[in-house]
Amino acid sequence: MTARHVLVLNCGSSSVKYQLLDMADHTRLAVGLVERIGEAAPRLTHTPADGARRERALAAPDHESALKALAAELAADGLGFDSPHLAAVGHRVVHGGRAFTRPTVVDDAVLAEIERLVPVAPLHNPANLGGIRVARAMNPGLPQVAVFDTAFHTTMPEHAARYAIDVATADAHRIRRYGFHGTSHAYVSRRTAELLGKEPSEVNVIVLHLGNGASASAVAGGRCVETSMGLTPLEGLVMGTRSGDIDPGVVFHLARVAGLSVDEADTLLNRRSGLVGLCGDNDMREIVRRMDEGDDAARLAFAIYTHRLRKYLGAYTAVLGHVDAVAFTAGVGENSAPVRRAAVAGLEVLGLAVDEELNVERASTARLISPQYARVAVAVVPTDEELEIATQTYALVTAANG
Ligand code: AMP
Repeated sequence: MTARHVLVLNCGSSSVKYQLLDMADHTRLAVGLVERIGEAAPRLTHTPADGARRERALAAPDHESALKALAAELAADGLGFDSPHLAAVGHRVVHGGRAFTRPTVVDDAVLAEIERLVPVAPLHNPANLGGIRVARAMNPGLPQVAVFDTAFHTTMPEHAARYAIDVATADAHRIRRYGFHGTSHAYVSRRTAELLGKEPSEVNVIVLHLGNGASASAVAGGRCVETSMGLTPLEGLVMGTRSGDIDPGVVFHLARVAGLSVDEADTLLNRRSGLVGLCGDNDMREIVRRMDEGDDAARLAFAIYTHRLRKYLGAYTAVLGHVDAVAFTAGVGENSAPVRRAAVAGLEVLGLAVDEELNVERASTARLISPQYARVAVAVVPTDEELEIATQTYALVTAANG
């Protein structure tokens, strides 16, 4: 019997998201979430293949009890960690530094390297590591695969990855542009090529991953050559709560004139900036609704957000030289017709336009929304990071076994 199931785990600081996929046909055998781990009233939500959702309160003070609880839910459906159908567990790991350029089977050395990267990803890597350790202990014989958010961006050339700062300082502290959301950029750029009926190697694509976090990437022939996030996920586009690009002098200025500490500046730029900082809301639906009612703060927030998108589309067109497609993805990119319209407005000179009828159509499948005459295809491509993690995990363990 071939084991064809892959469990995908995405461990955040206070939550664990999971999906069990059958790689024969990509069906979801279970989808679930443990949230508020270590906080008041943790909860588990588990939806098996028949759609009959189960919810319960948990005593989940840490990731270990959260993983044990989700394992018990899977076991109740006959799909636990010891199921003979389970081929591997695929873990989302946020930071892989320069060491990890591809998905990697976890052993002690790999764990140690992920641990070494904690200083550059203090919020994410510890939770990811915790998840791997617990899953490993639950079934030591089962392959655990780490799939890194940064891996897709490791093909960026040095001139795109380096900051123009003192080289010795940068090297001593591993300061460079790593990029994030790589699993999504990889999946969406490949799906966009498919939508155009081409191989990834034949097309240049700009991917706009616009969720609560947001990033752009320029992908040339299937390889990432530039992306908007940097050492941390703070750089680049305007996001739900993050500023994106900003003069670092703002931080020095605030330290001098307002006595802001490093942690306070971090909180300001990561949690109280972006759309929330500009207008108090980070949900694009709410911002568009307020804008339609004539709310000036919402209108300005939307204008700043979409102005940044147009700047990046121009810049990445210059980086790529020739663009075949622009793909919108994630919560805002997949759902907000006003954002897509404003992002390409006035960029006819770059060959960019949307067909308004196609743009406002609601659909959950990958589709083109540019007019037939447009030089550059504009696509809406729902991202599927879990499927991508499962696919990479399964490919690795089946290659290793066969
Ligand atoms: P994500 O991080 O990909 O889950 O995206 C979350 C964000 O997507 C939310 O904060 C909203 O701003 C946005 N979003 C979700 N659904 C919609 C929608 N129907 N229309 C516009 N924006 C949406």
